[in-house]
Amino acid sequence: MSSPSGKGFNAFAMAQQQFDKVADYLELDQATKELLRWPMREYHFSLPIRMDDGSVRVFRGFRVQHNDARGPNKGGIRFHPQETADTVRALSMWMTWKCAVANLPLGGGKGGVVCSPHSLSMREQEALCRGWVRAVARNIGPVTDVPAPDVMTNAQHMLWMLDEYEHIFGGKYPGLITGKPVGMGGSLGRTEATGYGVVFTIREAMKELGMKPAETVAAVQGFGNVAQYAVELYQRLGGKVICVSSWDEGDQKAYTFRKKDGVDLAVLRKMTDRFGGIDKKKAADAGYEVLPGEAWIEQDADVLIPAALENSITGENAGKISKRVRLIAEGANGPTTPEADHVLQERGIFVIPDFLANAGGVTCSYLEQVQSNMNYYWEKDEVLGKLDVMMTSAFIAVSDTAKKRKLFMRDAAYTIAIARVAQACKDRGWV
Ligand code: NAD
Repeated sequence: MSSPSGKGFNAFAMAQQQFDKVADYLELDQATKELLRWPMREYHFSLPIRMDDGSVRVFRGFRVQHNDARGPNKGGIRFHPQETADTVRALSMWMTWKCAVANLPLGGGKGGVVCSPHSLSMREQEALCRGWVRAVARNIGPVTDVPAPDVMTNAQHMLWMLDEYEHIFGGKYPGLITGKPVGMGGSLGRTEATGYGVVFTIREAMKELGMKPAETVAAVQGFGNVAQYAVELYQRLGGKVICVSSWDEGDQKAYTFRKKDGVDLAVLRKMTDRFGGIDKKKAADAGYEVLPGEAWIEQDADVLIPAALENSITGENAGKISKRVRLIAEGANGPTTPEADHVLQERGIFVIPDFLANAGGVTCSYLEQVQSNMNYYWEKDEVLGKLDVMMTSAFIAVSDTAKKRKLFMRDAAYTIAIARVAQACKDRGWV
C-alpha cells in the first residue's frame, strides 16, 4: 500500500502490476480484470481562488472513484505540491483493497489538490476547500463518496468542506465526510484507532504463533499518532517496548531512544512535540540511550513495529534484524521494500501487512460515517469495542486464507480483498 515517490516512479503503474499478479492468481475473467485495473470515475477540475493579495490563482483538483461495488467510495483528500492524477488513481485503488480486506461495506476513492498548504493563509485554504466541494458536490455524498483527511489536510478542512456542501444542498449531512472534530460529527476513539488496531492484529497473530504478549519485547519505529497508541495498548497487554524512534528536525536525522527495562510512555510524551519529535536532550536526561535512527531494527526483540514512514525495512538493513524477531506488524504504509519482503519471507518472519495492520484508521472512519448518518454518537468504549471485533475478524479471515492457500500474509490479504471486490461486481451483474 505504499505510495513511494521519486523520479520516473509511477504509483499507478505499480498498483496495476500488483493487481495483475493477484488477478492472474485468482484467474479472474478478462472483463473483471479490465474493470478493476482502472478507476470507474474520475473528476479533474480547475479551482480559481482569490488570494489574499487580490490576485486569482488557479489550482488543479481531483477526485477519483476506483470502485464502489461494495459500497460508497471512501478515501482521503491530499493537499500536496507533487500531487498527480496517477498518484490519486493508485491511492484510490489501494483504498478499494484496504476497505475490502477490513470487510467494510465501502469502495475506494481518493482526492487531491496540487498545492502547498504551508504557503497558503487559512483564508486561502478555506477558499480551496470550499472550491473543491463546489467542483464535485454532485458527485460526492453520504451514500456515494465520503472523503476524509489525508496528507496535509485536517479536521478544520473537513468542516469547511462539510459546511460548503450543506450550504449547497440546504440540509445537514454530517455523513458526507469523516475526520470531523469530536463534537462536530467526529468519532471518539479515532485518535487511538490506528495504533490500537495494529495491536489488535498483533494480539491475534500471537495466538497463532503461541506467543504470550506479556512475555514479549517490541521495538518500535516512530513516535507519532500510530506509534504512541500502539505502544500504549501493547504495554497494557503486558508487553515490554524497549525503544521508539523519531525524526529530529534540527539535526535532519532520526534517533532511536532505548530503555532496556521498557520505555515510559507518559514520560516520553511529555518531551515530544505535536509532530512526534522527541527532545533528545530531555530523553538523555531521563535515562534513555540515544542511538542512531536505524538502531530500532537491530534490537533484541520478538516484535518489530515500523510505524513511521515508507521504505524503512530495505534489502540493505533487513539482514540486521535479530534472530529473535518472529513478528512484524506494519503500522506505517509501505514500510517494507519488495527486496526486504523477500528476506522476511525466507526467514519465516510472520508479517502483518500494512493495509491489514493499519486498517483501524479507516475502520474507525467507517464507524464515524455510521454515527453521522444516524446523528447519534457512541461512547469511546463502544467505538473501540466495535473496532476490536472488526479488526480481529479481518485478521482471522486473512490468516485463514494464508493457511488454506499456503500464502504469505501480504499475498493472502491482497487475494481476499480483490476476490471480495470481484465477487461484488459479479453479484451486481456488472461482469
Ligand atoms: P505522525 O506524523 O504522527 O508520526 C510520524 C512519526 O515518525 C514521528 O514520530 C516522526 O518523528 C517519525 N519519523 C519520521 N521520519 C522518521 C525516520 N526517518 N526515522 C524514525 N522516525 C521517523 O504520523 P502517523 O499518523 O503516526 O503515521 C505513521 C505512518 O502510519 C505513516 O506511514 C502513515 O501513512 C501510516 N498510517 C497512519 C494512519 C493514521 O490514522 N494516523 C492510518 C493508516 C496509516
